[in-house]
Amino acid sequence: MKTVKSYDYIIVGAGAAGLSLLWHILEHDKLKKKNILLADNTFKWEREKTWCFWDKSLIPEKNWIQKSWERIEVRIGNKAFINIGNEHYHCISSRNFRKNILERVKETETVTIVEAEVEGFEDLGHNAMIRTDKGNFTASHIFQSTHIMPVKLRNGSQLLQHFRGFFVESRKEVFDPEMITLMDFDAESGTSKCTAFFYVLPYSKNLALCEYTLFSDEVLPDETYDAALQRYLNSRFGLSERDYKVNEIEKGFIPMDDTLLAGKLNNRTLNIGTAGGATKPTTGYTFTRIQQHSRHIVKALAENRLPEPFPRSKYRFRLYDHLLIQILKKEPLAGPGIFRQLFRKNKIKDVLLFLDEKSSLADEIKIFASLPWAPFLKALGKSGFGWKVP
Ligand SMILES: Cc1cc2nc3c(=O)[nH]c(=O)nc-3n(C[C@H](O)[C@H](O)[C@H](O)COP(=O)(O)OP(=O)(O)OC[C@H]3O[C@@H](n4cnc5c(N)ncnc54)[C@H](O)[C@@H]3O)c2cc1C
Repeated sequence: MKTVKSYDYIIVGAGAAGLSLLWHILEHDKLKKKNILLADNTFKWEREKTWCFWDKSLIPEKNWIQKSWERIEVRIGNKAFINIGNEHYHCISSRNFRKNILERVKETETVTIVEAEVEGFEDLGHNAMIRTDKGNFTASHIFQSTHIMPVKLRNGSQLLQHFRGFFVESRKEVFDPEMITLMDFDAESGTSKCTAFFYVLPYSKNLALCEYTLFSDEVLPDETYDAALQRYLNSRFGLSERDYKVNEIEKGFIPMDDTLLAGKLNNRTLNIGTAGGATKPTTGYTFTRIQQHSRHIVKALAENRLPEPFPRSKYRFRLYDHLLIQILKKEPLAGPGIFRQLFRKNKIKDVLLFLDEKSSLADEIKIFASLPWAPFLKALGKSGFGWKVP
């Protein structure tokens, strides 16, 4: 019979959630000597991500932050709405984040790395096991971010936030390195069938990540995003294709899906990251929520308690997400109008507070009063006046 190697903890998935949790464990005096196995099917990432957020206080290690911006703007047509609060915007490059944590792992004798395809999870009562193509491993706690398990089967059409972006190096100094463009609504999307906008993260006067994002049911051919990006770089920054080179490309999609996900696979296998329900379905923002969950897990482990799954949002925030997703799925033409009104009639800092689920009911009433009501009332009726909210 094959021997099964045992660890205190197994972290399955070395992405944002797995590596964040590992970092939190290694920082904890009581836990840092635990034997840990970190498993991923590849440690040679081909596609990097840029993780952005606005609440820096939730990031435990400020060295992870690659760049911060003092101002955030949203553009509608030729009008720019600029935040005048204290909200800054920050980004972390997945490349630097991973390098930072994996370098630390190299110096730590208690962490073992295995490049393996994780095929399944077993409940062994007081501990749990993973089955992989490199053998089986057990631990008293497993944390996994690789297998997404909806509580109920998803039904109906899908909705995706999908995007592709250029890391542009321009010959001309056209970007404002102190201000990000959170959303610049695509003027031409007025005639298209969904919400579409550009997102610009300028790193210097001539370096920027410029992304084209859409909320719709399917990913488009690369050429469609590229044509939109070329058009935008030209119309907004006066850049023709000869004026810049594209150093790297970021692309991806995030399901805009509020289906309830299982918080654990068994008593000893907790789901983390996107698989653990940490992604806000309407925005895709996940990174700061991962940090909050990691803190909770580490505290529970240090106190010899079973860590809890990522907490579900309050009912009213789940209702708002559900209604918006239903509108974007069933009445995609209403999407651009809703987002434009949201930013035209409300301060950016109030919208960010709302998206972080930190607003009060009074704030939310004010925000909803500024939006077109009809699509929301229709979606509310279709959701059985809220009782079908996951
Ligand atoms: C391009 C992109 C940009 C994003 N930008 C932001 C942002 O700006 N801000 C924000 O808050 N959120 C953002 N998100 C959402 C979210 O933060 C990220 O998707 C984040 O990476 C989720 O972390 P995770 O650990 O759950 O998953 P991942 O980071 O995807 O990690 C999962 C890991 O599991 C491994 N794996 C998968 N299957 C197996 C298997 N069978 N066996 C072994 N290993 C396996 C993968 O190789 C991967 O390393 C973005 C998402 C994308 C796609």
